[in-house]
Amino acid sequence: MTQLFSLPSGPIAGTTDGSGFPVRRVFCVGRNYAAHAREMGRDPDREPPFFFTKWAETVVPSGTTIAYPTETANYQYEGELVVAIGTGGRNIAAEDALDHVYGYATGLDMTRRDLQSQAKELGRPWDTAKNVEQSAPLGLIRPASQVGHPDKGRITLTLNGQLKQDGDLSDLIWPIADVIAFLSKLYRLEAGDLIYTGTPAGVGAVVPGDEIEVTVEGLEPTRIRIGEPASE
Ligand code: MN
Repeated sequence: MTQLFSLPSGPIAGTTDGSGFPVRRVFCVGRNYAAHAREMGRDPDREPPFFFTKWAETVVPSGTTIAYPTETANYQYEGELVVAIGTGGRNIAAEDALDHVYGYATGLDMTRRDLQSQAKELGRPWDTAKNVEQSAPLGLIRPASQVGHPDKGRITLTLNGQLKQDGDLSDLIWPIADVIAFLSKLYRLEAGDLIYTGTPAGVGAVVPGDEIEVTVEGLEPTRIRIGEPASE
């Protein structure tokens, strides 16, 4: 197959040659922590997980200053655990799902919350709220061979050093294996796909100059800075 464009590469822990992890697609899970579902005005039940997507080019490495995007006055952080798929497959059973994982990273699902709220009210798609330039910051990917498959562990987000999100991976409504099983019914997963697995409670808005850090126990943090509004 001809490669029509150069895929962005996420950083892999321990790589020194700059080749990175060739990101293919970015999938995100909506409302996967009960307390966050509640703060978004929803009952956290075990309805099947739902997904949205971002372009691969929205992925930027930890350390980036990301421009405050256009057409929003409420750009919000969502700190998340990110799963990096290493082996593709369709209709993957939950009990086999973790065999398809290359590794894990911290990340951010940055969101134009005002556009998302409008979209929900009007029954419109979330694309312009979620699929935003530079909206998927990603930390170093740690191979599962080093860190295992996390099913618990603290996940935090600090804004300018203040703790804003503080959850635990054990609170995921749909754990990683189930997310992979559901998603692989909708799409044939491929090596290079990333899955942002949802955010705990405590989301909030940023302004230029803000510094954000996302941590997950056992993984490298993601740190980004919010820059001035995009103008070019
Ligand atoms: Mn999210």
